[in-house]
Amino acid sequence: MSKIILTGDRPTGRLHVGHYVGSLRRRVELQNSGEYDKIYIMIADAQALTDNADNPEKVRQNIVEVALDYLSCGLDPEKSTLFIQSMIPELTELTFYYMNLVTVSRLQRNPTVKSEIQMRNFEASIPVGFFTYPISQAADITAFKATTVPVGEDQMPMLEQCKEIVHKFNTVYGEALVEPEILLPDNKACMRLPGTDGKAKMSKSLNNCIYLADTPEEVKKKVMSMYTDPDHIRIEDPGKLEGNCVFTYLDAFCKTEHFAEFLPEYNNLSELKEHYQRGGLGDVKVKKFLNQVLQAELEPIRQRRKEWEKNIPAVYEILKKGSEEAQKVAAQTLQDVKNAMKINYFDDNNLIKEQVEKYK
Ligand code: ATP
Ligand code: MG
Repeated sequence: MSKIILTGDRPTGRLHVGHYVGSLRRRVELQNSGEYDKIYIMIADAQALTDNADNPEKVRQNIVEVALDYLSCGLDPEKSTLFIQSMIPELTELTFYYMNLVTVSRLQRNPTVKSEIQMRNFEASIPVGFFTYPISQAADITAFKATTVPVGEDQMPMLEQCKEIVHKFNTVYGEALVEPEILLPDNKACMRLPGTDGKAKMSKSLNNCIYLADTPEEVKKKVMSMYTDPDHIRIEDPGKLEGNCVFTYLDAFCKTEHFAEFLPEYNNLSELKEHYQRGGLGDVKVKKFLNQVLQAELEPIRQRRKEWEKNIPAVYEILKKGSEEAQKVAAQTLQDVKNAMKINYFDDNNLIKEQVEKYK
């Protein structure tokens, strides 16, 4: 069986370092590993509209921002198909058929949807499109017969729901869909990177992000004002690592080489952590080190972004070509789905014969 990747992001803002460690960095590695037959990366504008219906301009503006972030992180249009969700009408059609396979109570139990509804203060006024977005996400994944979906931990319930839809579809109509596997980051800190404010998740909607496109000064300012251990007041005090996002970020970004380069008094992160817990290591010193680590990781991304920013028409051209290619693949899957459901009235000679017999 082919190995196929599908993943993507909502164009609700520029991408941040949470996206990077949760999914983007992995995608680039997988792309360059040469182990995958096809890689589809989707800018989920239709999904972004489910909770931004009154602000289509925000979605429209952010499509190119996300594409620039993709290209600057090393996604390569020669190796990966970059496309825009709304350019593939087949995805909507698949969603419509899958809706019949999911109950309202099942959707209400989806923990990610639950917490997102709370976060957006929707309460009783949840847009139907938002409520059903896990179904549309199942359409996105299955349309490309994806076997692997590299995402952050918040997407686990979506993948579960998708697998259930595939299972139900294949049981009721016959095997037409492929069951995908989630690929989570192998480092715990990367599964759900907290915000700079210490909140559980760095998220575009919570305004607690370090963006990939931030300037060196912006990154430094955000790092220096990051949430640490509130009880670590004097340098001599022992510090806590739990909930201390400076250390979570170091877990996500720091490589052993960084110590030789920026902080040679320590050999590795364990030594730094031990010193912090023992007492005698100040937050400012750790933050300065984190800033250097982040700058080292982000600088090449920034440089590549600057190059692509000079050629915006080429970015749109990449998305157009990718969307055309993706549309053909989705159209084939939709045909398979309709054949399995026997929604193929004009292609099925047996159906005509049956009806002729009936009226003889
Ligand atoms: P929004 O607030 O609009 O939902 P978001 O910041 O949550 O935006 P998404 O576009 O929903 O971003 O997520 C895109 C991908 O990035 C998903 O695979 C998701 O799991 C991953 N991701 C998002 N935030 C984080 C994070 N803080 N840590 C790890 N992965 C993340
Ligand atoms: Mg999200």
